[in-house]
Amino acid sequence: TNLLCSNLLLATPATPPHLDSSDSNTNTLLYSLETLSLDGYFTFQNNYHAAMDFGNTCHFLPLAVLHPESVSDISSTIKHVFKMGSGSDLTVAARGHGHSLQGQAQAHRGIVINMESLEEPEMQVYTGEQPYADVSGGQLWINVLHETLRHGLAPKSWTDYLYLTVGGTLSYAGISGQAFRHGPQIDNVYQLEVVTGKGEVVTCSENQNADLFYGVQGGLGQFGIITRARISLEPAPKMVKWIRVLYSDFALFTKDQEHLISSQDSFDYIEGFVMINRTGLLNNWRSSFNPKDPLQASRFRSDGRTLYCLEMAKNFNPDDPTDTINQKTESLLSELSYIPSTLVLSEVSYLDFLDRVHVSEKKLRAKGLWEVPHPWMNLLVTKSKINEFNAEVFGNILTDTSNGPILIYPVNTSKWNAKTSFVTPGEDMIYLVGFLPSAVTSSTGKDGLHHIMTRNKRILEYCATDPVRIKQYLPHYSTQEEWRAHFGPKWQTFLQRKSAYDPLAILAPGQRIFKKAR
Ligand code: FAD
Repeated sequence: TNLLCSNLLLATPATPPHLDSSDSNTNTLLYSLETLSLDGYFTFQNNYHAAMDFGNTCHFLPLAVLHPESVSDISSTIKHVFKMGSGSDLTVAARGHGHSLQGQAQAHRGIVINMESLEEPEMQVYTGEQPYADVSGGQLWINVLHETLRHGLAPKSWTDYLYLTVGGTLSYAGISGQAFRHGPQIDNVYQLEVVTGKGEVVTCSENQNADLFYGVQGGLGQFGIITRARISLEPAPKMVKWIRVLYSDFALFTKDQEHLISSQDSFDYIEGFVMINRTGLLNNWRSSFNPKDPLQASRFRSDGRTLYCLEMAKNFNPDDPTDTINQKTESLLSELSYIPSTLVLSEVSYLDFLDRVHVSEKKLRAKGLWEVPHPWMNLLVTKSKINEFNAEVFGNILTDTSNGPILIYPVNTSKWNAKTSFVTPGEDMIYLVGFLPSAVTSSTGKDGLHHIMTRNKRILEYCATDPVRIKQYLPHYSTQEEWRAHFGPKWQTFLQRKSAYDPLAILAPGQRIFKKAR
């Protein structure tokens, strides 16, 4: 099996640094780490957790894990490694919630920083005309939501799942069904505090150290560790009307999605899914959604078909008499061409809506199906390419089953900030397509890791025929050539930022873009 991460080191117990004679410089450094004056502490043994991630196919054991309690713990540690110069190959990876897919938050025989132990600064919410929250880079988004809701406020742009850290998602982009309106999470941040690869603590914003500010956003952890973020907030709605409808015609589905994300007064959240050969689809949704026409819905057959689900949500406040939610949604729905009998609706609190994936997580955990391999793959495909992509991928490559959700929804990137490190294919309207399967390691069947990874490879080979119009999101490559192609015209800036902020290539080695020079 080509698992890409070949060193499955988890089976080997960590060599205690004290006994390792293979690299005397590294040993000296590890001894000296113990002498650093810290608010938190290091662990040198039993660090298996730091060799795990959500993808569950890559396991690289670090030599040490730092559990920082202050920003200065992070800065002192990196300064220490930096002072060793290129005499040691020790690297440092920030680990948020470890929800990477291919070891991106791991550091093979390096130092992992457990960002969740950094609780500094305490979360602060500032109300007023332009409200914001100051939070630690290791804070989970679910905690940010709980705290801001206490003030009647909430961040504007989300990910589908909230048990991810602020620093972790800002290192990619943070895209969900609100991004068509507000941009990704990286476009909703006023200020950051960053510890660079030299150990310097830098506050940055669009007016102060702007190059670093934009560099770390979508920067894959390459230029610094985000220790604090100032996140823009808006008044939080109380309730959400949550709607799903189905299409069998891809052209109608995308036409409606594109229409909705382009209208002024539209839904507040717009996503979509591809459903391949699902039995009893509408019936399965009945625990959370009510069909508008139960009789017709019960007659709808989904098995053996490829269907496209448009998912929409409209925020509202039940106490507000001027909030004519039913009228608004009906008028928006009347513009669409879905299969009428497939309309299902639900009303939930804003918190429950945003935290919806956690419900599935709990169910899967209970069945032992959460901590399995996740050979996920996310792509960004331009509007001009999406029909051909659909025909090739859903018509030829992936026709039987998907072993998990497939997301597909458009976003309009024309107002997204182009100065960040995040790269999108070169058109204003692009689709996020996410293949999110769960795999069974030992299976040789369609649910097996090998089968799914081979299928992913076929899709990626097809994508490689048009690298300008299809890019990976949460990218993963093995060679610098591929990284150069991924960044395209942004590659030179990426290189310049690397040499300015992390010249020894100490940070985020698990991204496999740069190798620490020796
Ligand atoms: P980690 O996996 O811990 O780290 C990711 C990378 O960032 C590593 O290279 C790490 O070194 C670096 N890093 C971590 N913390 C910092 C920091 N403070 N400063 C600098 N670098 C840092 N993404 C979306 O955009 N939209 C979604 O809807 C979405 N849904 C998801 C749902 C699930 C169930 C999962 C598992 C992932 C989802 N993702 C989504 C992807 C997710 O945004 C990334 O995997 C993200 O990196 C996870 O955050 P984390 O805190 O676990 O980061």
